[in-house]
Amino acid sequence: MVTVLWRECWLKPLSIYDIETESCKSCKITLEDQDFVTSCEFCDIGIMHDNCANSHILNKHKDDVKKKIELHKDKRLHDYQ
Ligand SMILES: [Zn+2]
Ligand SMILES: [Zn+2]
Repeated sequence: MVTVLWRECWLKPLSIYDIETESCKSCKITLEDQDFVTSCEFCDIGIMHDNCANSHILNKHKDDVKKKIELHKDKRLHDYQ
């Protein structure tokens, strides 16, 4: 079975003053206008490019992601009972 990981589907415009950083915490490249950014839900690394967050989460939090998938499976089972 293929499990996909859906992050929030809405866009929330923030200024770099709101996020208190001018660069991606993962690749350190300066954020540009209308870059897609997000934060990591597993640690407090800070704001990263959306793409950087994907690889960050898959590299650093493989176990957390697995746990989350397992948790989700459990929930689904309960819904059917
Ligand atoms: Zn980045
Ligand atoms: Zn993280």
